[in-house]
Order: sequence, then C-alpha cells, then structure tokens
Amino acid sequence: MKKLELHWQILIGMLAGVLFAFIMVQFDWGAKFVSDWIKPFGNIFINSLKLIAVPLILASLIKGVSDLKDISKLSQMGGRTIGIYIVTTVIAVSIGLAVVNIIQPGKSISEETRTQLVENYKGDADSRIAQAHKQEESGPLQALEDIVPSNIFKAASDNGNMLQVIFFAIFFGIGLILIPEEQSTPVKKFFDGFNEVILKLIDLIMLAAPFGVFALLAALVVESPSLDLFKALAWYALCVIVGLFLMICVYLGFVWIFTKKSPSFFLKGMSPAQLLAFSTSSSAATLPVTMERVEEHLGVDEEVTSFVLPIGATINMDGTSLYQAVAAIFIAQAFGMDLDLWAQLGIIVTATLASIGSAAVPGAGMVMLVIVLSQAGIPEAGLALIFAVDRPLDMCRTVVNITGDAAVSMMVAKSVDKLHDPKERKWDDNYKA
Ligand code: ASP
Repeated sequence: MKKLELHWQILIGMLAGVLFAFIMVQFDWGAKFVSDWIKPFGNIFINSLKLIAVPLILASLIKGVSDLKDISKLSQMGGRTIGIYIVTTVIAVSIGLAVVNIIQPGKSISEETRTQLVENYKGDADSRIAQAHKQEESGPLQALEDIVPSNIFKAASDNGNMLQVIFFAIFFGIGLILIPEEQSTPVKKFFDGFNEVILKLIDLIMLAAPFGVFALLAALVVESPSLDLFKALAWYALCVIVGLFLMICVYLGFVWIFTKKSPSFFLKGMSPAQLLAFSTSSSAATLPVTMERVEEHLGVDEEVTSFVLPIGATINMDGTSLYQAVAAIFIAQAFGMDLDLWAQLGIIVTATLASIGSAAVPGAGMVMLVIVLSQAGIPEAGLALIFAVDRPLDMCRTVVNITGDAAVSMMVAKSVDKLHDPKERKWDDNYKA
C-alpha cells in the first residue's frame, strides 16, 4: 500500500486532536485528562524540535559559509537576503493596513463588549505590557550589541539567542575559509558529518509529527476561552486572516515570477512545515523542518538555506508585522481614535522594526505590539481587547512567517544560481536492517 504523504498524515493528526478534545470536554474529567496525559507528548515533540535547532544552525551554517570559498559571495548573498526581507515586511504591513482600513472591524465593537474584554484580560495584558517596557528601556544600539555573544556556550544554551549563534557560526565559517586547506579540510569534514546526523534526526522526529500535532491541538482546544468572545472579535480576526492569505498570494506570485516554480510545487513542498508552524506557533521550533523541506523539496542549495533560513526565522516575520498593523488600527478604531496618514506611515516603520525584534516563539508578536501601540499613541490597555483570539491568530501568522522565509530563500538561491531540481531523502535511505 502506498504510504500517505506527510502533510496528509499531519493534517489527519491535527483534525483528530481537535475532535478528540471536543469529545473530552463533554466529560467533567476530560480537560484535566488531556492536560495531564496528552499535552506532555505535545511538549516532548516541540522540545525535540527545539533540541536540534542550535546544533543545526551551527553545523549547517559553518558548512554553508565555508563551502562558499569566497567572502565576497557571502556579502553578496547577505545583502540580497536582508534587502528582500525588508521589502516583503513592508509589503506585509501595507497589506495589513489596507485590509483593516477597508473592513474597519473596530467600529463594530460595542462599548459593552469593549469594557467586558478589557476587564477579562486586564491581568494578562498588563504582564505583556511590563515585558515590552523592559525591552523598550534599552538604548538604540542594544539590538546590535546583543548580536555579539561574549560566550558561545552561554549563547548556545538558550534557544532565544539564535542571532548570537548565527553570528558565531558565520564568523567561524569565515575563519575556516581563510586558513590553509590542509587544516580546514578535517574541520569541514567534521561539520559535514555532524550536519548529516542532524538532518537525519529531523527525519526521525518527523515520523512522530502526526502524533505530536494531535497532542498539541488537543491541549490547545481544551484550554481555549469561550466561543462568545471569539464571535465579538470575528471581524478583527477575519481582517488578519484575509491579510495573511493575501500575503501568501504575494509570495506565490514572487516565487513564480522570479524562479518560474509553480504555486503547487511550492505549497506541496512546504505544507508539512506550514502545518507544523500552525501547530507549534513557533518559527524557531519549526526551523529544522523548514530547512529540510526547502532544501530537499524545493531544491534550494544548502549554502543558501543554511544562511537565509535561520536569519529569516529570527528577523523576517511578515505575518507578525501584518498582524501588528491590523491589531494597532483595530484597537485605535475600538477606542474611537482616527489615525491620519502620517500615523499610519509611522506604523509601517514601527511594525517592521517590531517584527524584526520579535522572538520566534508563541505570543512574541503580541509583546512587541505594545511598542507599536505606544509609538502611535494608542492606549496599551487595548491589548486586552485582542487577547482572546491571539493564539489562533498566532498560529496563522507563524505559517506566513515561515512561508516568507522559504519564498525569499528560493529567490536568493535563484539569484546566485543555487536553485536546482529537488532531491528527496527518506529517513532509512542508508539503513539496511
Ligand atoms: N509565533 C510567531 C513566530 O514564532 C511570533 C509571533 O508573531 O508571536 O513566528
């Protein structure tokens, strides 16, 4: 019998998880059962993905940079990558602003619903606001200073320090290019092998993906707030989703125009990673799978993926920036504020920067939204308005975040002639029992 393709397996796991949770909440003990006995398996799955993120970045980036053999190639690719990332982010924020100004979801929120939402979620919102203010207090060059670690082991011991690990790997790779081949060869060979092992581990973890997403979604459903609140925020949620959908169309268009690869080719290759991004709400946890899919299923050379994707996972968050723009205007509308063109242009700048600064973990975009709100003079307490639907929207924006990274890596690969026919590998290719 032909084995079901991975994206179908994952999709079935997701649907089964949701269905299972709906059945369980019918029983008094059901929600606790899911939290105690199902949720831990979801956490184990996410942890196993995060576990290999740092070793993967280290090994693949060192290998990727040293394979370039030439530092000018690196700066050429770096310039293109950052340039395209900024362009796509600005497009995303602009789409968000256009959609929210046309639909105007905030105008339909009644005074009563607004008060109720603000009261319900005040505590949660306050803790996010405090978190954001801590980040805001740092100086203008703090972000740059944070990129250079003083200790690589300390940097590698925290998944939140991806940019520091990336910095070290690029720096190390450059060193490797500059030493004589006689000495660099064994080091390169070591990282080549190390990299292969990590890629194999991803294959193995993905065998458990359908079960992992089952557990993640079941836990999410039993913990989600009541449906009434969702209804009040339906128009707002719709704006974010329409915007995100349009952004995916933009990527598909770009990929088609620049690389001549069809939307179905792109979506078929990326769908397992997209479903995983949806289930985990974290681009960092999805990164190993994104890298594997882009390389093996979209045909992008490892020299490009190892560089473009880890950087993208940390700084290119088009879904997040689009959501921040919609959320900011929605909150302003709900509080009866009219923002003029200048204020909206300001939002393009702050949402672009805020999305770059957002960590690739669940809920990070909402913390940085506080900064967008305060820059635009919108009441920060408005964060409480959108809390109820933040998680499902986080899942959707994370899909766009990783899709953007994949699309950009295809474009960069095409521009440096590193895009070829995909070569798929199975987990047991070299293993004969
Ligand atoms: N969860 C998102 C990500 O990891 C970030 C966010 O928007 O909260 O990509």
